Amino acid sequence: MQRTQTSPDRGRAALGPALALIHAGSAPTRSVLTGALGVTRATAGAITGELEALRLITVDARPAGGTRGRPSHRLAVDPSGPVVVAAQIHADGLTVALAGLGGRLSAPVDLPLPRQPTPARVLRAVVDEAARQVAADPRRCVGIGLAVPTPVAMPERTAVAAMYLSWPLGTRVGELLRQAATDGGLPLPVDVANDANLAALAEYRHGAGRGARHLLYVTSGHRGVGGALVVDGKLHTGSTGLALEVGQLTVDPEGRRCPCGSRGCLDVEADPHALLAAAGREADRRAIPEQVREVFAAAQAGDPRAAPRSTMWWTGSASASRA
Ligand SMILES: [Zn+2]
Repeated sequence: MQRTQTSPDRGRAALGPALALIHAGSAPTRSVLTGALGVTRATAGAITGELEALRLITVDARPAGGTRGRPSHRLAVDPSGPVVVAAQIHADGLTVALAGLGGRLSAPVDLPLPRQPTPARVLRAVVDEAARQVAADPRRCVGIGLAVPTPVAMPERTAVAAMYLSWPLGTRVGELLRQAATDGGLPLPVDVANDANLAALAEYRHGAGRGARHLLYVTSGHRGVGGALVVDGKLHTGSTGLALEVGQLTVDPEGRRCPCGSRGCLDVEADPHALLAAAGREADRRAIPEQVREVFAAAQAGDPRAAPRSTMWWTGSASASRA
C-alpha cells in the first residue's frame, strides 16, 4: 500500500537513527539531534517524545544554568530501558554481562569453560549464566550478542577457525546459540560475531575511537592477536566477513609453531603467552590478563626481565577485548 510520507511517518522512520545517536552519546541535546537528523524542531520533539514514552530515553527540559534561560532539552538513555545479553567466549573461559543503552555493562561474570568444551556445552554454559542474570534483573531483555575467538562467516554465522577452542571447522554457532537459548528459556534474537570486530565497534562508538573517521584496532586478551578495521563507521569485513586476519601475519618465518599450521605468526609471537614467556613468567590460564598487567607494572618499576628488549613489543589491551 502506497502512502504519502507525512511528518509523523518521517519521525517514526527516524526513531532508530535517533536512538542510535543518543545511545552513542552523539546527541546530548535535542537541538544537536535536530541538526544530526536534518528534521524540523517539531519533528525532533515528536521523536524524543515517543522515545521517552517508550522508556528508552529521558528528556531533561530544565534550563542548564539554573532557572533562567531557554530549556536545552538534554537527552540521555533511560537507565531502566531494555538490555541485551553481551557474552564473550575466549580460550580460557567465558564472560557474560547485561548491556544497557549507552553501552553500560552490569557486573560481568567470568566463568571457566566446561570440561570438554564442545560448542553445545560452551553455549549452554553461556545461556545458563545469561538466564540467571536476566531473571535477577527487572529490565526487559531483548536479545543475545556473542563474541567468539574465531572469524565468523556470514550470513550463516559459522566459526571458520576456532583455533584455541578446537571447535570443528564450520560450526554453525549462530544456529546452535539460538537453539541453546530457546532450550534455556531465552527465546530471543541472537547474533554472533568475531571478538576483535565487536571490540573495534565498541571502541569506535563508545571508547577510544569516538569521533574518529577510521579505526585500526589490534587486541590480545588471552591467546592470539586479533585485529579489525572500521572505515567510515562501518566494519571492514569483506564480502564473507573474513577480511583482516592480522594474527596470521608472519613476523618470523623461523618462529614458533602456530595452531593455524604456519610458523611465526603474530598470533603466537606477540600474544600474552609469548609476552609472559619472554618476561620469564609461567602463564596461569585463569589469570592471564592480570599476569600481563603485572609484567607491565614490573617493567615500569625497572625489572630487567620484564623490560622491552626488541623492536617488536606487545601493545594489546586486555580489557578492550571484553567490549
Ligand atoms: Zn598462524
